[in-house]
Order: sequence, then structure tokens, then C-alpha cells
Amino acid sequence: MGEQKSLLSDAQSRMADIFDRLDVDDDVRRQLHQPMRVHQAAIPVRMDNGSLRFFPGWRAQYDHCRGPCKGGIRFHPKVNVDEVTTLGFWMVLKCAVVNLPFGGAKGGVQVDPKSLSRMELERLSRAYIRAFYDVIGPNRDIPAPDVNTNEIVMGWMADEYSEICRKQVPDIITGKPLAMGGSAGRTAATGRGALYVLDAWAKRQGKRPENMTIAVQGFGNAGYHFARLAREAGYRIVALSDSKGAIHARQGLDPEPIWRHKNKTRELKGMVYCESSVCTESDVDQISQDELLALDVDVLVLAALENAITTDNVGKVRAGAVLEIANGPVTAEADKRLSEQKITVLPDVLANAGGVIVSYLEWIQNRTGDYWSESYINARLSDQLVGQAELCFDRAEEAKVDFRVAAYLQSVERIAEAIASHGTQRYFCDE
Ligand code: NAD
Repeated sequence: MGEQKSLLSDAQSRMADIFDRLDVDDDVRRQLHQPMRVHQAAIPVRMDNGSLRFFPGWRAQYDHCRGPCKGGIRFHPKVNVDEVTTLGFWMVLKCAVVNLPFGGAKGGVQVDPKSLSRMELERLSRAYIRAFYDVIGPNRDIPAPDVNTNEIVMGWMADEYSEICRKQVPDIITGKPLAMGGSAGRTAATGRGALYVLDAWAKRQGKRPENMTIAVQGFGNAGYHFARLAREAGYRIVALSDSKGAIHARQGLDPEPIWRHKNKTRELKGMVYCESSVCTESDVDQISQDELLALDVDVLVLAALENAITTDNVGKVRAGAVLEIANGPVTAEADKRLSEQKITVLPDVLANAGGVIVSYLEWIQNRTGDYWSESYINARLSDQLVGQAELCFDRAEEAKVDFRVAAYLQSVERIAEAIASHGTQRYFCDE
């Protein structure tokens, strides 16, 4: 194995260069070096057989200098404090890249949620809120969905919070069901936003969607909606993968029926997660998940988990560009290699920001009681995300840096301004 660093130290290793380029105050370096607060709890769940189990859970509030903390909650057997903290750090950067008035946080529970019954899952979701009730809040820290936590889970969590408060508090959580104050367009927002960023970049390159092929790793919420909308926009989706396998069809795949098929038993049985996989599809080639990453396509979309591309497999990537929908799918070392291989990376902090932008719009709607149409939401998403993406692209061109460095510069500049506005060491200097 090439890289053994913790996720946070890998993420932090990209920062020294950014701080030096911006010549930021030492306060900024110190403040962003570690999380503000990390809360940990043993989350009790009464199982269906009567036994009591405790699952380790966290809420990492990395920084709030630009506004209340914002970030998803992940249920996964491999969740740990390092992962949650790093995801919180990336949320700080992401919210600032796209200029949202939020800081960054992330939560998680170390659990295999697919091994729980629906009632056990609901009890776990509610217990998570009871465990962290005192530290979250609509002006303090607003959770949202992430891997294995969808709108059903967000609904239970929002309900639990409101029950404890003895009043409706819809702005406590985003990504809720529409019937509970969720926003039109939120479910597809991450995938849609990623498509907007890809479109803006392709346009600048003079590339047309009809001439571009795409392989998508991760056919979950973000990956599916991206693939569906990209196909509608004219791109050719030639491969898809999930945790069980991958499929490939040179002539192109239609993600919508594949998704419907994958979700059929889930809907029939009223389940939260689907049991099926893309690899139950017939009339397509079955390939391995690793083979998908090595396909000769115009764009490789990474929409699963962190560290999909490391120094172990980066040499095999043959795509012209990588679109990061997952958080942290490329390690810092592998990133350097992609750059040497002249492969463009559209970075996570920009490419997957559509979700948090529409979460912000959901939060505003909940606070004002004024609810908007999907077309209005999509137009606002496009304005905000494409506007900020164009600023990054211009900066990359001017400073002759890659898009990740440009996005980080845009982000850290704004964070530094906020930290300075709160008061810095300079206040104590004479000159
Ligand atoms: P999800 O749980 O709905 O989907 C994850 C998908 O990845 C599943 O299809 C799973 O089978 C697949 N997967 C897991 N391991 C894989 C592997 N080794 N190879 C191929 N596929 C694999 O989660 P999601 O909400 O779509 O999130 C995916 C990524 O996008 C995460 O990194 C998440 O943090 C990021 N993200 C999500 C949102 C959002 O709004 N949902 C917003 C921003 C970022």
C-alpha cells in the first residue's frame, strides 16, 4: 500500500501551499489546522429481539467562522472519527468555495445500516438526535443526508428534534421529505450541480456532450441523478458501478430503468435501502469495479466514497477528466500524479456543492415559510454554482494552477476574511 496517512493529515497536506500562496495570517493556519469541537457518543438502540446495542457516533464541528455549521450524517460500518472530522473540514472549504453563509461539520454512526430492520434504523436515527441534541440547532449546526441516510432518515431525525423541542423546527435538518418542509429539487441537487459544473467546463473547452463518454463509479443518490441528467443532456453513459459490481455498454446505458429495476424490491417491500445491484442487468457486459476506473472515457465520475483513486491505481486511469462527486475520492499524492498525467480534475469542493446549495435554499424556505418551485430552485442553483465555478476556472487560468488549487484559494481567502473580521493577532500589533 502506497499511502498510510490519516484522511485528515492527507487533506491537510494540501493546505500549506494554499496558505503560502495567499500569505494568510498565522491565525488562519492555526484555526483551520484542527476541528473546533468533536462530539462523541455511544448511541443506544433497543433491537427488535429486545437486546440493547450501542453504536459509536460522532458530530465533528470543524469551523463556524462564516456561519452555522452544516454537513451530512453518514451511516456506514467504516465510519470513524478521522473520517467524520475530515468530511467536516471539507464542508468548511466547500461552503466557502460557493459562498454560502455556513461553516462545516459532519456526523456519522459506525453501523451497517442494511443489517438493521426498518424500526431499528428509525430508533437509531432518533437516538442520534437525542445524543447530539444539545450541540446542533438551526443557528448552530444543521445536519443533512450523506451515505446511507436519505430523506426518510432525515424525516425521522427532524421529527425527533421537534418532539424534544415541543414545537416544529423544520430548519434543524435539510434533505427532509417534501411533506415535512423539504425542498423541491433537493434529492437530485448534488448530481444536478455536478452536471452544471461539468457543462460549464466542457463549454470552455469547446467540447460537446454528444461527443463525450462517461463512466460513473457509485450508483447511489448522487451518482444516479448525475447519470440520469447527464444522459438527458446528451452525454453517453457507458459504465456504472455500485458496491457489488459494475456494468459496461459501449453504445450507452439508460440509468433510469436501471435505477427503477434496482429499487423495485425496495419499494415493494417498503425498505429504506435496495438489495439489488446494477450487475443484475442483462444485455450488458459485467466488468469489475477496478476495470471501470481504468476505462478509456472522456470523463470518469467518482460518486462513491473517499480514496477511490490512490497511488496504487492512479497509473491505470485513462479518462480525460475526473469529476469528483464523492468527497475526497482522490488522495493528495494520486492527485499530483493525475496532474502529471495531464488529467483534469473537477474537485469535490466545487463539483458536489449542489447538494449543500439546495440545502441552504431549503433552510431559507423553512425559516421564511415561503416555498419555491423546482424550476426556481434549479435556476438559483445554477446561478450560484456556475457563477462560483466560473470564478474558479478564471482563477486557475490566471494563476496557472489546477482547479482544486483555484477552488481552495477562493475558499481560504473568504475564510481568512471571516476570521480577520472576528478579530486577529493584528489587532494587538502597533503598526
Ligand atoms: P449513497 O449511499 O446513496 O450511494 C453511494 C453509492 O456508492 C452506492 O451505490 C454504493 O453501492 C456505491 N459504492 C460504495 N462502494 C463502492 C465501490 N467500491 N465501487 C463502486 N460503488 C461503490 O450515497 P450518496 O449520497 O450518493 O453519496 C455518494 C458520495 O457523494 C459520498 O462521498 C458523499 O459524501 C458525496 N456527497 C453526497 C451528497 C448528497 O447530497 N447525497 C452531497 C455531497 C457529496
